[in-house]
Amino acid sequence: MQRVLVLDKNKNTLMPCHLARARQLLKQGKAAVFRQYPFTIILKERDGADIQPITIKVDPGSKTTGIAMVADFKGGKRVIWAGELTHRGQQIRDKLLSRRQVRNSRRSRKTRYRPARFLNRRRSEGKLAPSLQSRVENTLTWVGHLCRWSPVRSLSMELVRFDTQLMQNAEISGVEYQQGELAGYEVREYLLEKWGRKCAYCHVTDTPLEIDHITPKSRGGSNRVSNLTMACHACNQRKGSQTATEFGHPNLQQQAKQPLKDAAAVNATRWALRRHMDNLGLPLEVGTGGRTKFNRARQSYPKAHWIDAACVGESGEQIYISPSHTPLQIKAMGHQSRQMCRVDEYGFPRTSAKQGRVHFGFQTGDMVKAVVTKGKKCGTYIGRVSVRAKGFFNITTPTGTVQGINYRYCTPIHKSDGYFYEKGEALSSATTRVAVSLRQNS
Ligand SMILES: [Zn+2]
Repeated sequence: MQRVLVLDKNKNTLMPCHLARARQLLKQGKAAVFRQYPFTIILKERDGADIQPITIKVDPGSKTTGIAMVADFKGGKRVIWAGELTHRGQQIRDKLLSRRQVRNSRRSRKTRYRPARFLNRRRSEGKLAPSLQSRVENTLTWVGHLCRWSPVRSLSMELVRFDTQLMQNAEISGVEYQQGELAGYEVREYLLEKWGRKCAYCHVTDTPLEIDHITPKSRGGSNRVSNLTMACHACNQRKGSQTATEFGHPNLQQQAKQPLKDAAAVNATRWALRRHMDNLGLPLEVGTGGRTKFNRARQSYPKAHWIDAACVGESGEQIYISPSHTPLQIKAMGHQSRQMCRVDEYGFPRTSAKQGRVHFGFQTGDMVKAVVTKGKKCGTYIGRVSVRAKGFFNITTPTGTVQGINYRYCTPIHKSDGYFYEKGEALSSATTRVAVSLRQNS
C-alpha cells in the first residue's frame, strides 16, 4: 500500500504513515489534507518526531520513468511510495512543429515587410532537445516534490546500461556470463546495445534473445565478449555447433571484434539528470541497468518501471515490496495550447479568439470529483476535467470520459499542475500477468 506523506504543523517533513492511520487522523480532525497527488496530510498540532532515512530511487526511461521511495527500517529496506511518470516526448515535438507552422503562416500574412531572419540562432553547449529536456524536468519536478514533503536523505538513479569498466576487461580477458552472476547481466545489456536488440542472424526483434557464441565453446570458442552475440532461440538452435561463418554469416566475426563505441552507450538525458540531481545536495548513488535487472531477477519481481527503480544500484539488492502495493500513475500533460483560435482545413479561423481559461472556478487539467445526483449520468466520477464555457464539463476517468457534467456537481480535489493521475496496477496482479503471458508463450 502506498504510504501517505506527512507534514507537521510547521510544514516540516515527518515519516510517511499508513493510509489507515492518515484516515484516522483526518477523521479525528487532527490533520488536514495538504495535497492530493502525492497524497500528503498536514498535522494540526504535532511538530517533530522520529524519522527513518528515506531514499528516492529513479529509473529514467524514454517513455516512462519509475520512481520509488525506499525507507530503511530496522527490519530491512521497504518500498513505501512508488510512481510511474509518463513523459510526453513526441507530443512536444508535434507542438513545436505546430507553433512553427502557425508562426510561418502569420509571417506571410502580417510581417511581409520585415527582413527575413534565419541562421541567427546559437546553441549552448550541452543543450538538450526540448522533448528530452522535458523528461529531465518532469523527473526533477517529482524528485523535488518528494524531497519537499518527506524526510529524504539520499538519492539513487540508474545512469548507464552497463558497466563500461567491466566491459573493457571483458573484451580482453572474457568473463563468466552464467545466469545469476552480476557480470552476466552487465554483459547481456552490453551485447543487447551492441547488436541493436535484435537477433544477429535473422534480425527479429521483440523476442527473448539468447547469448550465442560465434565460435562455439565446443570448437574452442572463448567467453570473451568479442566472441558473443545475441540470437533468437530458433537461430541459436539451428546454428548448433557451427561457427557463424559456417552458418552463413561470415561478416559477424569481423563485426564482433569491434567494441561498442562509447558514444553509443552514453545517454545524454540521463547524464543531464544526474548533473541536476547532484545539485540537490543529497548523496547520490548511481547504478547500471545490468545491476538493476540482476537485483530484480534475484528477488523474482516482475518487470515494471517502479519496481526497476526500487532495484537500482547496490542498495536495491534486498528490497521488500508488498504484493498489494500499487504505484501512482503520473502522466505529463502539459499546459494549454498555443493556438489563439482553432482553424478550419484551409487555415481560416473557425472559432472566435480564445477566452479566459478559467470557467466557473475550474480550469482544464484540474482533478475533480463529481457527484451527480440525478439524471442519466447519475453517479460519482473522479478524474481530469476539460472545462467548457457553457458550464458542462467533460471528465476523463480511468474507465472512460463522461461528457456534459454540470460544473455545480464538481468539487476540485487537485488544481491543474500539468499532470494527470490515476491508480496503477498492483505488484501481485503484475506478477499474475507475467505468469499468464509466459504460459501463453510456451
Ligand atoms: Zn534469429
